[in-house]
Amino acid sequence: MRRSRAFIPTIKEAPSDATLASHKFLVRGGFINTQGAGLYNFLPLGKIVLEKIRAIVKEELDQAGCLEVQLSFVTPIGLWERSGRSNSMGKEMLRIKDRHDNEFVLSPTNEEAMVELVKNRVTSYKDLPLNLYQINTKFRDEARPRYGLLRGREFLMKDGYSFHSSQEDMIREFELMEATYKKIFTRLGLDFRVVQADSGAIGGEGSKEFHVLANSGEDTLVICEACDYGANIETIFDEEEVQALNENSYEELQLKKLDKRCSCGGNLSFKKGIEVGHIFQLGTKYSQALEAYFNDENGRAKPFEMATFGIGVSRLIAAVIEQNHDENGCKWTKETAPFAVNILLSNVKDKAQVALGEELYEKLKALRVEVMLDDTKERFGFKMKDAELIGFTYTVIIGKELENGLVQIYDRKTTQNSSVRVDEIYAKLVELLKS
Ligand code: ATP
Ligand code: MG
Repeated sequence: MRRSRAFIPTIKEAPSDATLASHKFLVRGGFINTQGAGLYNFLPLGKIVLEKIRAIVKEELDQAGCLEVQLSFVTPIGLWERSGRSNSMGKEMLRIKDRHDNEFVLSPTNEEAMVELVKNRVTSYKDLPLNLYQINTKFRDEARPRYGLLRGREFLMKDGYSFHSSQEDMIREFELMEATYKKIFTRLGLDFRVVQADSGAIGGEGSKEFHVLANSGEDTLVICEACDYGANIETIFDEEEVQALNENSYEELQLKKLDKRCSCGGNLSFKKGIEVGHIFQLGTKYSQALEAYFNDENGRAKPFEMATFGIGVSRLIAAVIEQNHDENGCKWTKETAPFAVNILLSNVKDKAQVALGEELYEKLKALRVEVMLDDTKERFGFKMKDAELIGFTYTVIIGKELENGLVQIYDRKTTQNSSVRVDEIYAKLVELLKS
């Protein structure tokens, strides 16, 4: 893409309500813009990152045997009345009326709709198991939609629902999804932990959350430094203590209720996390409420055993940045970077600079490298600031040193510049992009 033809409206000032790095940099870097409280438009750069994350999620789920569907975003209120959630979801559920006064809901999640879809279509144990998912818009009228993509009112979620003939088979799928989610977050280059989560009445191993570790996270986790044990503090402390811990008064409460050691002998410590995934053993709660049955081997009608699996796809964009940034802007991970290479022409009036930039641009494009050519007339300092804000993985600086046969490569992760001979630049970039 040529920067002169791109639509990347970067801005100097962060929105006044933005307190988090991801919110500031995603708006300032021209990835998203605010439509209203908790409502965001994705501009070309934001859309590229969103689609990259979506593709990885889809690829790993399809590998694990899940089937993608897409349910309608608007659902009739009757569906929610039958499960009892039209009341229990409260004000988070946004209701609308059509011209005939029929009431609808902008779906905050889709258990009911998915059960209705499977009900009477899957009738035999022979057709099970089944794992259906969608990557689709959700709407939750959050009380405080103030952290950019971390807590939108409208957001993109992957929601999956599995159907089984026995509890054992449901647990097998739950474990498969845990392993699949680990693959997804590992591919995204994130430092994350799987923790025991509050699973209400179901208890036990029934619910796990996936947290990206970042100081700005809203959740507090207890984590073992030696093994992979972790728990959301909601499972260990009472409500008041959770609130105190979330407000950062760690010291007073430091492991008050805990034996300071994990059962493996390792040290336990508190960490802040951003919830990016949640897997949940549902059992027969929804299949019973909505009378969704299959026939077992003996011809007896039984409610489906179910599990549900969620990933915050748009929240992940912000989580990547919360974990990877500096004071100047974004540092994308390899799989999430919107562009791997930015070719920065220091002076677009210099014919030699332009010729080299164009040549390199075409060669990298031929290799299908995601490359930006900054061919704008802006000053060098301005272009460099923009490159840091947006977070191109590598910026090739073609400037004055070209007279001596040299260009620079700026590495966004390390923020180091290195000089490379012009005749070696292409090979050097190919080598860097491979690693
Ligand atoms: P939270 O506790 O953060 O409000 P939740 O537990 O209500 O989330 P789930 O119902 O488990 O959320 O939804 C599945 C996933 O969707 C969450 O793990 C999270 O990553 C994402 N998610 C939930 N609410 C939002 C939101 N308002 N904005 C962006 N992503 C969200
Ligand atoms: Mg959750």
